[in-house]
Amino acid sequence: MGHVQPWRGSLRLPLVAQPSVPPSFIFGVDLDGVCADYTTGFRQIVAEELGVDVETLPLERSWDFREWGLDEADFERLHHLAVTERRLFRDLPAFDGCADALWRLSDAGIWIRIITHRLYVNWGHATAVSDTVSWLDTFGIPYRDICFLGKKPQVEADVYIDDASHNVKALRATGNPVIVFDQPYNQDMAGPRASTWAEVEDMVVELASQQNAVQPQLPGFDAGADRLIRRRS
Ligand SMILES: [Mg+2]
Repeated sequence: MGHVQPWRGSLRLPLVAQPSVPPSFIFGVDLDGVCADYTTGFRQIVAEELGVDVETLPLERSWDFREWGLDEADFERLHHLAVTERRLFRDLPAFDGCADALWRLSDAGIWIRIITHRLYVNWGHATAVSDTVSWLDTFGIPYRDICFLGKKPQVEADVYIDDASHNVKALRATGNPVIVFDQPYNQDMAGPRASTWAEVEDMVVELASQQNAVQPQLPGFDAGADRLIRRRS
């Protein structure tokens, strides 16, 4: 008699070895500026801390926040405060369509690997990690594994999405395909470029199809990013 495979956690599905199943296609997904709207969330906190109207801090900003009048030390102080005291990573808004697109990609057999550089400074790791995982649950974002990185760019994905020019450059320099998620501060980067999660989904499906790694959604599985919440309740 066969045995049921152990369930390894809410989002970690047991792998089934079947000759007809092609190898997984891994999609490496950055969080800030790609899934989570860091600029909008951070802007609110900076405005409150500096005692200025939020409208005086433009959303069209450079990577170094010069339009907000911040120097490197200001940014470090405010980012630290935002993460550790204001719980930025728990409360950031999510970009439209992100969770639903990632669920459809996951249903198509694509392995979602969250890759975040949120530990790039040496403090607040416990809050940063726990708030990140809570945030992913809150917005119903699916993932098979998650990598918290400092500066190492490469974690063996078949395609990456990132908004930071230095990450895009580093990944491409080592031969990795990267989709640029459109932001005002990355306009210097060549495409492929996506402005919406619908575009991201199309690009990833196209790439995975070229590697014969897309599976049709199984019948009986409902679409929608809130499915786990519905299933749990
Ligand atoms: Mg980012």
